[in-house]
Amino acid sequence: MLTKNETKLLDFENTNLYINGQFTKANSGEVFTVYNPSTNEKVADVPKAGQEETQVAIEAANQAFPAWAKLTAGERADYLIKLKDLLIKNQEELATIMTKEMGKVYQESLGEVVYAAKFLEWYAEEGKRVYGRTIPASAQDKRLFVTKQPVGVVAAITPWNFPIAMLTRKLGPAIASGCTIVIKPASQASLTALAFATLVEQAQIPNGVINIVTGKTEEISDELFSNKIIKKISFTGSTRVGKKLVTKSADQLKKLSLELGGHAPFIVLDDANIADAAEGAVNSKFRNAGQTCVCANRIYVHEDVKEQFLEEFKKKVESLIVGDSLKNSVDIGPLVNESGLAKVEEHVQDAISKGGNVVCGGQRAGDENGYFYTPTILDNVNDEMKIMFEETFGPVAPIASFSNIDDVIISANDTEYGLAAYIYTNDINKAIQLSESLDFGVIGLNDAMPGVPQAPFGGMKESGFGREGGQEGIEDYLETKFVSLKLS
Ligand code: NAP
Repeated sequence: MLTKNETKLLDFENTNLYINGQFTKANSGEVFTVYNPSTNEKVADVPKAGQEETQVAIEAANQAFPAWAKLTAGERADYLIKLKDLLIKNQEELATIMTKEMGKVYQESLGEVVYAAKFLEWYAEEGKRVYGRTIPASAQDKRLFVTKQPVGVVAAITPWNFPIAMLTRKLGPAIASGCTIVIKPASQASLTALAFATLVEQAQIPNGVINIVTGKTEEISDELFSNKIIKKISFTGSTRVGKKLVTKSADQLKKLSLELGGHAPFIVLDDANIADAAEGAVNSKFRNAGQTCVCANRIYVHEDVKEQFLEEFKKKVESLIVGDSLKNSVDIGPLVNESGLAKVEEHVQDAISKGGNVVCGGQRAGDENGYFYTPTILDNVNDEMKIMFEETFGPVAPIASFSNIDDVIISANDTEYGLAAYIYTNDINKAIQLSESLDFGVIGLNDAMPGVPQAPFGGMKESGFGREGGQEGIEDYLETKFVSLKLS
């Protein structure tokens, strides 16, 4: 693992925006500071750019677009593969930067870099499979064609909880299809994005194809939405902000993809392999300290196996080690910031005040400099508790029981969200019944980690619209054009 001053990808004393192939400062010279959530120590100052720099980045992407779009898919794939190789080669540095700025446990950060690289690889190949089609005409002298073209200059707004994977999940299909892009990373995850810019330069991706702007969130976003050059915006973040962006997109009917929040039910039937279910629940719930959109938020266990499940689950949860994310032995790092920690505490207190039982955990952990919370299990929960309908985004697992499969389907679907749901059962009929009845875009069937680059990922209801990953992921960056040819 590298120490703070050893990184070659980023000079922590001198960070820069990446616009038109140049590393530059914010025009005003302003910066904001990123602090390590494990220690509260300063990590680095980051350029605080705004409307002007965003406009320049958009112009650069626009200049770069015609030549980039004209390349063959194979030529664009070569650049993507170079970038993917550089990500893998620099995975330790990227993981160290990510862990320092947003607190993800180092081993998970390493895993995320590899996962992020796979999006580049998948879309390098998928770009070669952007097929059109011919349609039988209704007149002898006509020929009908359907072609696909890149939508143009696009923008990506990404969250802090997956700083590099959410970036490549958008950038991969965008540039593979021939679009150019302006990226606005989350403030708390800006450094990973700026380090990535160094790799973009090393991969010799032509100037202007990829641009990264950090800083004044609303000012940057307002420019992205109001500038007519931007043809599509892909956003991953909270449902609250996603809804605001839908309103903003209305003026120009800007194409929008929204990957938003979730409130995943995790259902364990009486015939399930309980050891597997308990292991899956730990992975799903406590990954990234519970700060993922697909984290199990509500665990429903059949009453006949609840005791057995709870015993196995508790043993595993109590063995998780909480601490500074850079340390190798640690399983659970800090929450991202004080308000993230305060929300977790609020949800636990609210549940206790409404009759919830703390099986383990239930308090802050570690020293007061970091935002640590002990992995927690709550029993005796009910639907009045905030934790059962609001995204907690923390290491707290509420366990409810059920006796009837129809009832658990109603409870699981009783949410405004529809991103991921998990089912543990060995009964194929119940597996099919549940996976067809649950209103969620991603179903993990005896699988707590379903996300892969080759499969479509996205939500129903207020978890958003559009899909990332798989064949579907590139469609959002393409226009469909119909050509009707009348022969003379
Ligand atoms: P967030 O507060 O909504 O922020 C996401 C991004 O939007 C950041 O870049 C943020 O910039 C920016 N932003 C904030 N306010 C904005 C505004 N008014 N206009 C335009 N942009 C704005 O979400 P987060 O806390 O970073 O991420 C956690 C959320 O993302 C959770 O709800 C999680 O479930 C969701 N998520 C969903 C998926 C998925 O695939 N469905 C994946 C990961 C995360 P600043 O950082 O500068 O505020």
